[in-house]
Amino acid sequence: MRNDLFTYEDLRFADIQLLRYRVPAFEGLPLRQKQYVYHLAEAALSGRDILWDQNCRHNLDIRHLLEDILLHSAIAHEGKDWDAFLTYLRQVWFANGIHHHYSTDKFLPAFSADWLSEAYCLIPEPVVAGERFAELLPVITDPSIMPKRVCQSGEDLIASSACNYYGEGVTQQEAERFYAAKKASAPVPDQPVMYGMNSRLEKDAEGNLYENTYSSGGLYGRQIGRICQHLEKAMEFAENDRQREIVSLLLQFYRTGSLETFDQYTIQWIAETEGMVDFVNGFTEVYGDPLGLKASWEGYVNILDREATLRTEILSRNAQWFEDNSPVDPRFKKKECKGVTARVVQAAILGGDLYPSSAIGINLPNSNWVRSVYGSKSVTIGNLTEAYDQAAKGNGFRKEFIPDDKVLDMVNRYAHELDDLHTDLHECLGHGSGQILPGVDADALGVHGSTIEETRADLFALYYIADHKMHELGLTPTPEAWKSNYYTYMLNGLMTQLVRIEPGRQIEEAHMRNRALIAHWCLEQSSYWAKVFGTIPAMELAKREGKTVLEIHDYPTLRQFIGQLLAEIQRIKSEGDTLAAKHLVEKYGVEVDSALHQEVLQRYKALDLAPYKGFINPRYTLVTDTEGTVTDVSIAYDETFDQQMLRYGREYN
Ligand code: ZN
Repeated sequence: MRNDLFTYEDLRFADIQLLRYRVPAFEGLPLRQKQYVYHLAEAALSGRDILWDQNCRHNLDIRHLLEDILLHSAIAHEGKDWDAFLTYLRQVWFANGIHHHYSTDKFLPAFSADWLSEAYCLIPEPVVAGERFAELLPVITDPSIMPKRVCQSGEDLIASSACNYYGEGVTQQEAERFYAAKKASAPVPDQPVMYGMNSRLEKDAEGNLYENTYSSGGLYGRQIGRICQHLEKAMEFAENDRQREIVSLLLQFYRTGSLETFDQYTIQWIAETEGMVDFVNGFTEVYGDPLGLKASWEGYVNILDREATLRTEILSRNAQWFEDNSPVDPRFKKKECKGVTARVVQAAILGGDLYPSSAIGINLPNSNWVRSVYGSKSVTIGNLTEAYDQAAKGNGFRKEFIPDDKVLDMVNRYAHELDDLHTDLHECLGHGSGQILPGVDADALGVHGSTIEETRADLFALYYIADHKMHELGLTPTPEAWKSNYYTYMLNGLMTQLVRIEPGRQIEEAHMRNRALIAHWCLEQSSYWAKVFGTIPAMELAKREGKTVLEIHDYPTLRQFIGQLLAEIQRIKSEGDTLAAKHLVEKYGVEVDSALHQEVLQRYKALDLAPYKGFINPRYTLVTDTEGTVTDVSIAYDETFDQQMLRYGREYN
């Protein structure tokens, strides 16, 4: 029953592909916890319009206009303009507004302004009045109006950004001064609240600045009131006292807008690790504000994936064994080694700024002082990564870059599970392993520090994923499955990650440099030793029918190279060997072979894949008996994207 329920290729338009995610952990919950999830999910969907309005002040009216045309206009439902209209509407739905969710550039419709006017005139009773339509028309069709949601260049970032966090006439300089003064007068200077996070900065009639705070009695009061109703309901079904306390503090925050209360809520939220169900609901990330102060609204609910979390617990329980048995010089090993347990969860609902496009791992809170005193919570959202993997199976990408059917079969069978295990090894053990020699500065490696650190964690993962110990601990499906991880890792490092680099550019991002470093170093070792011994190389880039392909002939030897490089990278880190770090990163991790790059880009382009993906939510329904008592909560995966968007527009408007 795992993957054959539905197709994952649900909908494709513009540069977007939509996927479904499943929530198997939900089915196993007792009724009480299902009801907790249900009400938290309703709360997560209820803030949708807050985000739309935060993204741009015209967004909600534009959505109402477009949905009105879709449902009520007598305009012909066919032809180029109509198709362009459907694409545009779906883009707007997906981006929660008229600006691209990732680039934040305004996208332009392929229909004409005249067509839109005609479609509008053919609505019998339009929800958007004629004057308002006249204002919205150029916002939709004129590229020079509000061209970017978050603009990072220009004289005044507030003036050049279309987002809606600052009122009419508020300048960047005024906003910066306003918040600098607030910070300077913080009552507890080393525990500052996140000033400005939950408000719109506006000017009153006399031109004085004030914060219009989001709260159930203030800005976005209706939506927040609705969120609060569902949170109150949810509180009845909380799993433990601390969860009840968390929801109650969040309610208090929503009612008062007090950021001190928000910090108290956050501190309790970090401490709650006992329950199966957890959630985020509130003003969270600041990427949508060019000044990085104002937080966009998001909501999501997750359920602990017991089995997957068990995996990370097994690893951290055995942390000392891994440390003792690594190929690293004993002087650089930790005498006492503790692993980290990461929670693996399944998303139960995505809302606000996490929907339809979502993160696959989340680490909160964002308050620096709370993090440093109380720590943070980290989750990997396993059912979303699984949906991505399912999509990768069917989209032709693997077939193009893995021409050997046997290897392809192995990758399709094991890559997802082994990639997750690789991530666990990297996060739970890799970063925490090893020690720096006394007197060596932890930042000695300078600009190459983060690349070397990621290289170290990846090598630790690659070295151990191939160890018998993994199978002994019951963490791999077969003793050979690790080979799929070696293949996909090397393929990515040598070739496929190049699709994310523009022609003529070099590799800059630390994780990408680290993958290139490991793969190219191993490739060079393979060719060197093959020449010395006159044998076939452990791994090589070969040509088949004019295409470059990766061939791995000897996996155990490849693992030996990994072990050698791990020992060397740990030495570099432990001794703070800046020159060696620079040499390795610059020789193997930065440069791009332009012919290969071009080839990879062409092959990728020919596949015509959507670069951005997002998710359709499942639908939860309360099941009641004849007396109206709730007997179950059902989950369904039957909505299309259009149906879901229209329903959200009706129910959470
Ligand atoms: Zn890392």
